[in-house]
Parts: sequence; C-alpha cells; structure tokens
Amino acid sequence: MGSLPSPGWRQLKVGVIGGGIGGMSVAIALRRAGHLVTIYEKHDFAGEVGASVSCAANGTRWLHEWGVDVAKGDPVVLKSLINRDWKTGEPVSVYSLDDYEKRWGYVYNMFHRQYMHAMLKDTALGEDGEGTPAVLLVNHKCQAIDIESGLVTFSNGTTAKHELIIGADGIGSAVRGILGVHPAKKPSDSSCLHANVLTEDAVKAGLVDYSKDDALEYWGGQEGKWDKVVLSPCNGGKLLSYYCFFPREVGDYITQSWGAEDRPVEELLAPYPGLDKQVLAHLAISKEIQPWRLWVHEPYPYIQKGVVCLLGDAGHPMMPHQSQGACMAIEDAAALGILFNKDYFGGNISESLAVYQDIRLPRATRVQSAAAKAAYNINERIGFSNNKNITTYKVEDEKNKLTIEEMNAYDMYQDVKENIARRRGNSYSEGFVKGLPVGLELPSGIVSRS
Ligand SMILES: Cc1cc2nc3c(=O)[nH]c(=O)nc-3n(C[C@H](O)[C@H](O)[C@H](O)COP(=O)(O)OP(=O)(O)OC[C@H]3O[C@@H](n4cnc5c(N)ncnc54)[C@H](O)[C@@H]3O)c2cc1C
Repeated sequence: MGSLPSPGWRQLKVGVIGGGIGGMSVAIALRRAGHLVTIYEKHDFAGEVGASVSCAANGTRWLHEWGVDVAKGDPVVLKSLINRDWKTGEPVSVYSLDDYEKRWGYVYNMFHRQYMHAMLKDTALGEDGEGTPAVLLVNHKCQAIDIESGLVTFSNGTTAKHELIIGADGIGSAVRGILGVHPAKKPSDSSCLHANVLTEDAVKAGLVDYSKDDALEYWGGQEGKWDKVVLSPCNGGKLLSYYCFFPREVGDYITQSWGAEDRPVEELLAPYPGLDKQVLAHLAISKEIQPWRLWVHEPYPYIQKGVVCLLGDAGHPMMPHQSQGACMAIEDAAALGILFNKDYFGGNISESLAVYQDIRLPRATRVQSAAAKAAYNINERIGFSNNKNITTYKVEDEKNKLTIEEMNAYDMYQDVKENIARRRGNSYSEGFVKGLPVGLELPSGIVSRS
C-alpha cells in the first residue's frame, strides 16, 4: 500500500458507546486511523473490584502496534499454563510458554483489569500518540440510536450525532437491541465466584507462593465436571486472582451483578470439600469475593447495520474459559482501525462495516463456541488442546478443536486485503487464506488454497 490516502478517505466523527476495554481499544485504533472519537460511558469508573484479565499474543501484538505503554499495566508475563489434579494439586497437563514469544513475536500478559483499563484509557485520551486524542464523556448512558442518521440519545437528556457508531457496551449491550439482535441465551450450568488473595498475605500465612510460577493455573476442569479453580497472577505477581467455578445447583448467582456486596468466605469454600489443601488454604484467606454471572450466548446473526456496529462482548460475549474475551475485543478494535485507515477506507462506511462483520464474526464466534466447550473440558482450552500426549487428553472433535496456531498465526491485515480484493473483483495472491498462512498445519488439515 502506498502512503497516499485511499481516494475518498475522509475523517469521520465516531461515537463509541461504552468505555470498557473494547471501547478504549477502538478509540485508540480509530484515532490512529485519523478520526475524531468521542467515547460515551454510562458509569464514572468508580468502585470497580480488582480481577485479572489475560492478554495472549493475539491481543498483545495490537497493544505494541498502537504504542500502548504496556509496563503501565504491571503485567505478569506468563511462562506456562498448568492444569493440576483437583485433589493433590500435582500437575496433570503443562503447556510451556518458553518459546511463545519466539514463535509468535509477543508475550502472553496477565493484567489487572483496572490497570489494563487505565493503560488503554491513557493511550486513547493522551496528548501523545498518533491522531487526535479521543474525548471521554462519563455518565452518558445510551438509550436510543437512529442507526441510519447516527443520532444518539442519552438517558441524561443529551443527544449527539456521529457518522460511525461503535457499540462497545458489553454483554448487556443496549446497542445490540437497537440493531435488532436479540440473543438466544441461557444461564450457564456453572456458577463462578471471583476472589482475590494478596501474595504477601499468603506468604505471611506460610502458604505456597504461587506467584513464583508465573503461570495460569487450573485445578480440575477434567471429566466433564464444572468444578474448576483458576488462578491468574497479576500486578507483577502481587495479586492472585482466583476464578472458582462449580455447578449452578450448588450456588446460583444469575440475578446478581458484578460489583454487588462481597460474599462470605464460607460460601466460597463450601463447594470444594475435596480440593487440594494448598489452594483451599489460599481461598480461605481471600477477599473481595464476588459472583460473576455466566450466560451462554448463541452466535449472533449479524453485528452491524446502518452506521452502527458491535464490538467485544456486545457482539460476541463468551464464557471465560479460553481467556480470550479481552483479546477478541482488542482484535475487533484492530479490525476497525485497519478498515477505516487511509489505506483501506474509500469513503463507503457500509462496505467497511460489511468487511468488519465478514472477518470478525466467524473468528470470534469460533472462539465463543470453543470457550463454552472448555468450561467442562480443559483439554479444549487453547494450549492444553495441543497436549495430546497426556493420559487424560480427550476432546469432542479432534479436527475442529481450537489451537494456539489458529489464534496466533492469524494475520488480520491479510484477512482484510483478501476480503476487500474479493469484494472489488481484484486478485489476491499473498499466501494467506482468511488470514492464516498457506501451509499452516491445523487439526483440520493444512491451510491451502484448494
Ligand atoms: C470479572 C471478569 C473477569 C474477566 N476475566 C477475563 C480474562 O481473564 N480474560 C479475558 O480475556 N477476558 C476476561 N473477562 C472478559 C473481558 O473483560 C471482556 O470480554 C472484555 O473486557 C470485553 O470488553 P468490552 O469492552 O466488550 O466490555 P466491558 O469491559 O464490559 O465494557 C463495556 C462498557 O460499556 C459500558 N456501558 C454499558 N452499557 C452502556 C450504555 N447503555 N451506554 C454507555 N455505556 C455503557 C459499561 O459501563 C462498560 O464500561 C472478564 C470479565 C469480567 C467481568
């Protein structure tokens, strides 16, 4: 691509509904693409509880491309994924990430959500960096949108008009309903309580210092059971963020929302009489025990209409079991950043949003479905799905399982180029099919043109 803007390129006034991880990411990507971005957030970000969020290489690559100061997120760079025996805590399946950066060019970061959010917000709104800083308006809850004219009405009585609108308003998205997408969803058969342990407290109590493993660690998750404890270290290892899953009949939090009152520690320990004593002792000293409502959404039929599109959890909410929710939101943002940049945007918003849907919906919904499977079978989780040589390995459909190769070898620029070439009747022969390099080995076979 040359350095001159594509004929027809113009600067757009973009409205982003929702200032979460996805909203901040798309604000960065679109300001860098030359547009004027306003983010409308219904909250003022006060009072969020700490929890980890993982950012694998397919997310981290965009943070670097966008000039985000990743150190501000105080991440733990993961060195392995460890699945432990439920009772003994002995490792059952270990996926080493030793060659991860060498293979994929970027590390696997584990962030604290608030730090990650602040890091993205600073890049989106900061004076430094490419493009015009985005503007953030808090206490702006989107109520209605005219999806053809781009007029947005907020519940505080104000309105705003935008040429392009991104619905990044999370799993309970209002924008989604406005687009006419009404999800087929059901409560998950599992419940989750999240809890925090300060590494300092664990060490003082004479417990194992899991932060030294620099690993995402899982107890259980085998044999179709819902019981699973997931430990992710963040804040440079100072905080241990625990996600504790159990069958919904043991505890149902479906009506509770994140940010509700903390639950008592007894409630957290009750479902786990047989759990490895070491990790159980960690849970016993945990704080900020919060339920996390889990819903399983079927893939949506479309994620764009008029001048509006959905991004992140608004467009493809997923179970947390592939640790890809944030990465998929970041990838969505990256796609919009490319499609509306000076190389590709020729002035036709409908065309760009159609390409966005074409490239994002299949990839994100594939991860969404793999995340639902990994809920009760950890062998389906990216990384562990490559560990075929362990005795407990079993997946539903060997040929269709999701692997690390499909996630990390994906080249979004090539996916966009191929899609646009096809739409415009041009030839494309750069050695990729839907962003995956020809010759790449996947469980379903070798990526090839035939
Ligand atoms: C406790 C927890 C732990 C998680 N752990 C992981 C993990 O380990 N790995 C991972 O990859 N993902 C994880 N996720 C999921 C991940 O955080 C999300 O998938 C990701 O943040 C998607 O971001 P989003 O911007 O689409 O949605 P959100 O981050 O939910 O942001 C949506 C924003 O929109 C705002 N909003 C909502 N409605 C409106 C409205 N009408 N008008 C204006 N603003 C509105 C909300 O206030 C919010 O700020 C976790 C999520 C939670 C809640």
